[in-house]
Amino acid sequence: MADEGLDPYPIWVAEVMLQQTQLQVVLPYWQRWMKAFPGLEALAAASEQQVLLLWQGLGYYSRARRLHATSRLLLAELERTSADLNDPLQFSHWPVDPEIWLALPGIGRSTAGGILSSAFNSPLAILDGNVRRVLARLHAHPEPPMRAQALFWTWSEALIDAVPGFSRDLNQALMDLGATVCTPRHPSCEVCPWDALCAAYASGSGSPQQYPVKEAPRNIPFQVIGVGVVLKESGEVLIDQRLNEGLLGGLWEFPGGKQEPGEEIIDTIRRELREELAIEVSVEQALITVDHAYSHKKLRFEVHLCRWISGDPQPLASQQVRWVKPSELSDYPFPAANARIIAALLEHLD
Ligand code: SF4
Repeated sequence: MADEGLDPYPIWVAEVMLQQTQLQVVLPYWQRWMKAFPGLEALAAASEQQVLLLWQGLGYYSRARRLHATSRLLLAELERTSADLNDPLQFSHWPVDPEIWLALPGIGRSTAGGILSSAFNSPLAILDGNVRRVLARLHAHPEPPMRAQALFWTWSEALIDAVPGFSRDLNQALMDLGATVCTPRHPSCEVCPWDALCAAYASGSGSPQQYPVKEAPRNIPFQVIGVGVVLKESGEVLIDQRLNEGLLGGLWEFPGGKQEPGEEIIDTIRRELREELAIEVSVEQALITVDHAYSHKKLRFEVHLCRWISGDPQPLASQQVRWVKPSELSDYPFPAANARIIAALLEHLD
């Protein structure tokens, strides 16, 4: 049976933020989030724009949209349970069945295990980046962990089974060990409680850092993106909201697109604005060049000021387009690479 438990809401938010981001980065975001949306009802009542603004800079924005969507599903589930029990809404009514969590958007096996073991001490294993590293070293596993997921889950579950009734503490200790002692580059094996059990440590000095074994490096593609900061005479600037798919789904941006081989950047911008917004512009002075590296590609944004000539902007490749005052840009969530474009525009207009 689950113990009395801790409130799953802050734990769930933290688990989702930590999915692809390190603790030091997540902490201020989590604190701001808990102030803005202190509970499930506040999050469910928020608009998607408010949610994305608070997530701005944390990356992988689909996580924020799924968290938001899930808050409404969970709230409906809790309201149903509370009504059945004729009870006020309370966290003891949150689902404790991992299958229910796994059916929710953005919740994988490790996230469900992390939430339920932390909140209700459920006997569920976790397998995040820290835990994978510790296990790879304990077993000196000779291949990249992602190629042996089932085996790594078995190892993590065996640790849970070894300490019945202490899943919350075990998972927490495992994550803390990975974050503070068994760190990626400089593991502190001399103070590690598992040094006597660790195959990587036993195999000699300098050895633990070789684990987890990495995949062979791949070439990261490079692409130049032409971007138009389109202004009209009234001083408003044109922005569009990306489709919900992909890494930056749902965020706002200045319109543009990929430079074709042999194409001048001015022609790229003019073509992209015609194809994606059905407008004609005069492409004018360069505003800024911004290089930005994602995990799977490197982009160079060549940004030009543009003067709108004709055509009512259409969202042909986006969710919506909007003319806004430059002073209003901070009300919209933009990808991190756009912060420098906005700063350059505001400086130019100053
Ligand atoms: S002994 Fe070293 S490599 Fe092994 S688990 Fe501990 S810190 Fe990690």
